[in-house]
Amino acid sequence: MIAARIGHGYDLHRLEPLAPHGAGRPFVLGGIHIDHDHGPVGHSDGDALLHAVTDAILGALCEPDIGQLFSDRDPRWDGADSTIFLAEAVRRMHTRGLRIGNLDATVICERPKIGPVKDRIRARIAELLGVGIDAINIKGKTHEKVDAVGEGRAIEVHVVALLVA
Ligand SMILES: [Zn+2]
Repeated sequence: MIAARIGHGYDLHRLEPLAPHGAGRPFVLGGIHIDHDHGPVGHSDGDALLHAVTDAILGALCEPDIGQLFSDRDPRWDGADSTIFLAEAVRRMHTRGLRIGNLDATVICERPKIGPVKDRIRARIAELLGVGIDAINIKGKTHEKVDAVGEGRAIEVHVVALLVA
């Protein structure tokens, strides 16, 4: 029996100006609020990083994905704090006798800059997953001004997570 499982998570959210100029929600990434004039459009709080982390864990477990567990047509999740979704994935992981070995995320957006908040995000995700900060890595990249992400109209996140017994 293999004592480790790997999972991949991906998410993208459209970015719009904050209300009343657009449909953007306050910008939250990895459970951290970032002051910015644009924010994600989404049914929940639109935290693309926590959504991708949640899907990476669920994927490693071969469990239903975040959209299956928390439908974007369910009014209960309107504006919901995405730590709720991650907590459910963590609960399922622990039920299976697994924990995070390490997790690596790539966040792609033109603005805001991820560098200045990277360590706060790492610390918050580590706290939510119950591991040390050295198990969590975040890389911020731009999309070189091309396509929707590069034009600042979307944020995209990729995550891989290794679950160990
Ligand atoms: Zn999402």
